[in-house]
Amino acid sequence: MTSTPSREVPQDLQDGTVAARLLAWFDQHGRHDLPWQRGITPYRVWVSEIMLQQTQVGTVIPYFERFMTRFPGVRALADAPIDDVLHHWTGLGYYARARNLHRAAQKVRDEHAGVFPDTLDSLCALPGVGRSTAGAILSIACGVRAPILDGNVKRVLTRLCAIEGDTSRGATLEELWRIAESLMPQKRCAHYTQAIMDLGATLCTRSRPACVLCPLAASCIARAEGSPTRYPSRKQTRRIPERHCQMLVIRNPAGEFLLEQRPPAGIWGGLWSFPEIDSATDAATACDRIAGEPAASLHHGTAFRHTFSHFHLDVSPVHIRVAGLGRHVLEDQRLAWYKPGQRALGLAAPVKKLIDALCPPETAHEP
Ligand code: SF4
Repeated sequence: MTSTPSREVPQDLQDGTVAARLLAWFDQHGRHDLPWQRGITPYRVWVSEIMLQQTQVGTVIPYFERFMTRFPGVRALADAPIDDVLHHWTGLGYYARARNLHRAAQKVRDEHAGVFPDTLDSLCALPGVGRSTAGAILSIACGVRAPILDGNVKRVLTRLCAIEGDTSRGATLEELWRIAESLMPQKRCAHYTQAIMDLGATLCTRSRPACVLCPLAASCIARAEGSPTRYPSRKQTRRIPERHCQMLVIRNPAGEFLLEQRPPAGIWGGLWSFPEIDSATDAATACDRIAGEPAASLHHGTAFRHTFSHFHLDVSPVHIRVAGLGRHVLEDQRLAWYKPGQRALGLAAPVKKLIDALCPPETAHEP
């Protein structure tokens, strides 16, 4: 799909009417009681924005609250072990976000004396912070006139101005930034940012926009055309490849699980997972090789699929009991016996699911 040539932002969108209507709607119908809207600081806005990438508000709320309890400020986050950070991210997915969050907190601690920077460029220099996240931090926490352009806002703007083309790149992206910039009011920048995010999340939804309730309906070109869901342009769908693996669910006589820490980069980077082998490898031989302990019993569990953004992973669990503690486990720091509830480790999502099924959380010992 090619981008349409850039054009001027329609005059009626630049006269402040859109912002005024949006703010009036937000005052009455917007969300005002989300956890990150209380005690607003750049740190809280930043963490919430990173968590909300690719993730629904309802899912994020309990994670955000637990995260803030454990890491109430940027120094607490910077000083924490990465395992602890990943543990508090377990289940949210896209773990690079958590690793970047941790690295960025250390950068704020070491290069900015623990105080969040307050310019677009210095925020964008932090790992995992792009222009839109920086705009959210500046506008919501500091009241600065800095627009955002997350997925929800892109959807609203492409419909409002009937913008075609790939919204993630090139001339289309530049045009959207120009529109975002020109719509942003001089005052009430924090509320405006929250308002346009809310509009995208609650009314201008992907498949069923509630145009009859929308405060921008009179200005919206997509609505006038009668086909709002035509925008944003659909990306061409590609077939997602499939991969297969076996996960060795090895337990010792104490009922502990053998976990292996994954390399820092790549899928589930830095998280703890069951040892993984390819489908053709013999599981009993692999158990002996990895743990240094022969399998005392072995049975194959029910296979399941875990889907990433770019491939499906079909997992065949192999349940293995061993009689000892494994001579390799003590020697290799990347191997550990894990008892649920006793140690804060970041777990890959399917691993947590399997452990919860075998050892339900209410029966696990809490520290
Ligand atoms: S009128 Fe409809 S399509 Fe246009 S911004 Fe509002 S909800 Fe979205």
